[in-house]
Amino acid sequence: MKETTEQIKERHDMEIKESSERRTSEIEEMRERHGREIEELREKCNHKKVSDWMESQWAPGHGGPRVKVCNNCGLVMDTEKWNLNVEVGVE
Ligand SMILES: [Zn+2]
Repeated sequence: MKETTEQIKERHDMEIKESSERRTSEIEEMRERHGREIEELREKCNHKKVSDWMESQWAPGHGGPRVKVCNNCGLVMDTEKWNLNVEVGVE
């Protein structure tokens, strides 16, 4: 049986729909894309402007060692040696 033009069009629409559903979500693609852009930026950056010591957080609300980061690309340039005893107040 020969497909009519209309049937071919329907089949193509169906195939396009199915393939777009298999794709990863847009937010995942965006994160991937931005991750690559940040990597490229950091490779090109000469890290000339570095911040003063600032608090880092290894998780929201949990302070980590102080760090210096590049003001342009955000790369951590230096990490303060972190004394756990100071953090919990042990002499
Ligand atoms: Zn940099």
